[in-house]
Amino acid sequence: MSQEEDYSGNLGKICPSCMIANADNTKNCMMCDKDLLETVLFLEDEFFDIEITSKELIEYRKNYYRTRRTGKVKHFKLDKMKNINFGTPIKRFSFEYDGKKEVYPLRDENFILLKELIKG
Ligand SMILES: [Zn+2]
Repeated sequence: MSQEEDYSGNLGKICPSCMIANADNTKNCMMCDKDLLETVLFLEDEFFDIEITSKELIEYRKNYYRTRRTGKVKHFKLDKMKNINFGTPIKRFSFEYDGKKEVYPLRDENFILLKELIKG
């Protein structure tokens, strides 16, 4: 049995793009074909989900009731993000992009994960 045919793994890998659960060893999402290996970090938060790849930060905006996504997706190139800041005591991640300030309030656990990844 080849790697591609082995679907016996646990469905523990959530596709950041379409939120379908894939087997842990899946390379491309079985629903939308997204390359799942490019995802470095995926955070589910209150108002948005955030995916970090080696090149981009991707924001998947959620609706007012936080129940599902609006379909609005923003891409930020990591090497164009400036003045990255992790605010305290309120856990807010912010940066400047194309002269505009972007601010993301984050859950404590997501704030810590993102800070560790970006600050290295
Ligand atoms: Zn997908």
